[in-house]
Amino acid sequence: LEVVAPVVLGSQRLGGVRVGMDLVGVRAQQADADAQLESGINEVGKRHLLVGLVMLLVLFLIAAVVAVYVQRTLVQPVRLLADAARRIEQGEYAVQLPPAHSNDEVGDLVRSFGRMSQAIARHDREVRKLAYTDALTGLTNRLAFRESLEQRIVQAGQRGQRMALLFVDVDDFKRVNDTLGHEAGDEVLLRFVDRISQAVGRHGGEQSLLARFGGDEFVILVDHEDAATRAMDLAEVLVAELARPLSMNNRDVFLGSSIGITLYPDDASDATSLLKNGDIAMYQAKLAGKNCYRYYSRAMDHAVERRVHMEQELRGAWERGELHLVYQPIYRTRDRRMVGVEVLLRWQHPQLGAIPPSVFIQVAEQSGLIEVLGPKVLRAACMEARRWEAVAGGEQLFVSVNVSPRQLRSGDLAAVVAQCLADSGLPAARLHIELTETAVIGDEMLAASLLDKLHRNGVKVWLDDFGTGFSGLSHLRQVPVDGVKIDRSFVADMQRDPDDLALTTAIIAMCHALGITVVAEGIEQQAQFDLLAQRSCDLAQGYWLSRPLSSTALLELLQ
Ligand code: C2E
Ligand code: MG
Ligand code: MG
Repeated sequence: LEVVAPVVLGSQRLGGVRVGMDLVGVRAQQADADAQLESGINEVGKRHLLVGLVMLLVLFLIAAVVAVYVQRTLVQPVRLLADAARRIEQGEYAVQLPPAHSNDEVGDLVRSFGRMSQAIARHDREVRKLAYTDALTGLTNRLAFRESLEQRIVQAGQRGQRMALLFVDVDDFKRVNDTLGHEAGDEVLLRFVDRISQAVGRHGGEQSLLARFGGDEFVILVDHEDAATRAMDLAEVLVAELARPLSMNNRDVFLGSSIGITLYPDDASDATSLLKNGDIAMYQAKLAGKNCYRYYSRAMDHAVERRVHMEQELRGAWERGELHLVYQPIYRTRDRRMVGVEVLLRWQHPQLGAIPPSVFIQVAEQSGLIEVLGPKVLRAACMEARRWEAVAGGEQLFVSVNVSPRQLRSGDLAAVVAQCLADSGLPAARLHIELTETAVIGDEMLAASLLDKLHRNGVKVWLDDFGTGFSGLSHLRQVPVDGVKIDRSFVADMQRDPDDLALTTAIIAMCHALGITVVAEGIEQQAQFDLLAQRSCDLAQGYWLSRPLSSTALLELLQ
């Protein structure tokens, strides 16, 4: 590159300037300058990188410190709490909670969590208690007993040990509730529990378990080397203890208990079957007349099956015409004139044949069927009695109908009776109701009020099978009956046993003193009739006088 310029002063040229430059040199200079610049920039870059790195490191350190802090104060407690919550969820309440020193939100949370877990544990204890104990008596309940029984069975199986299960049911407990009210019923139960616990404590051994299965049912597990003997001792003591009268509201309440015993592993080796067997055996004790104990036996299973079968058959038997009534005349002893008729139910089963009332009435009673059958019998009897009026001498005959304890307790007996009388048009004075002594015992208040209602209708009430329940003559004062029927067992033994004769004589005298009619049933021989006539027994009934008759046979007899 060459640049030439003249140097001029005014118009005079003084000289000139010439500048020339070499490209190579310039290039070398430029390269030099570039190199310098680059190294400068590099240096600055390195410095910045270093500062950046240092700052990064510091930031990282700060982050790490913050992380550790957060971990310590927030994450760890929360994680521990979550862990504790999981364990509590699984029912483990003794969990360790993180320390709650700080006054911040986390501390609050931990403290609240602690309180909450304690509350849950407390509720759980209460719920468990509720679920596993009986509220009234504080005894183990069915659920807890079953669980324990299952455990004990496993243990006894390993040790090869026997156990016994006692199924205890208070006899006629419902009566207490019905007559004295539920509060008194609860009180009676508590006193029974007292007696049972004491007996179990004394005779059942330390390992024994007592539970209330509901209502008036108690179950005892005797877990002892000598379980069979212990169970028998215990059952004997319980039957005796629970039969002792209880004084409630200044009244003596007579109850009893029926107990079924079953043995492990003899009778069954699982809880369900053992409990079922115990129940069956208890039921058999009831059938055997209550206030006693029975051992389970395989034969009982069949008995239960037969009973269930019979119950099914009995349902609808009336509609199928298998049930009918027969009539047994009742005579006045003085002139041996027929004055009335007792109605007796008969069941002619197409396959099983004639089934005695002693069997099927009990089935009907226990299944509650009697509440359906009873009114039907009553109605049919009233209708039938109207037919006798057409025949000579038949217009004054009374008809005597047996009424079961259950019918008596069902409450509307008086209404049923009134309805039957109204529908049939039978005068009330011609209807007699026979109640068994056992229906009335211990229940004098209810019985008395019911009898009062019946009396107001004009119906007469007789106490059937008198003497068998041994309620004592004093009951006659409390329960206003119009007549008693001396049980046929007395009549049968009268000739042989002077005590029975004396007792029969005393009953007659006592009844007459109270203005009560005396009927003797089951007279099979003239000698019995004569003996009773001598002692001025009012009425008499029995095979010697007449067997139960069909309605046609009775009408013929009347004619
Ligand atoms: P129960 O009321 O004491 O009836 C008298 C029972 O004695 C009847 O037995 C009768 O056939 C029987 N009998 C009468 N005279 C003699 C005799 O001289 N010797 C003997 N050995 N027995 C005699 P049955 O008909 O077998 O009735 C038994 C029980 O069944 C009755 O005893 C009564 O408690 C009950 N029963 C019968 N029918 C009914 C009914 O319709 N309703 C209710 N609730 N119970 C009934
Ligand atoms: Mg009778
Ligand atoms: Mg009788």
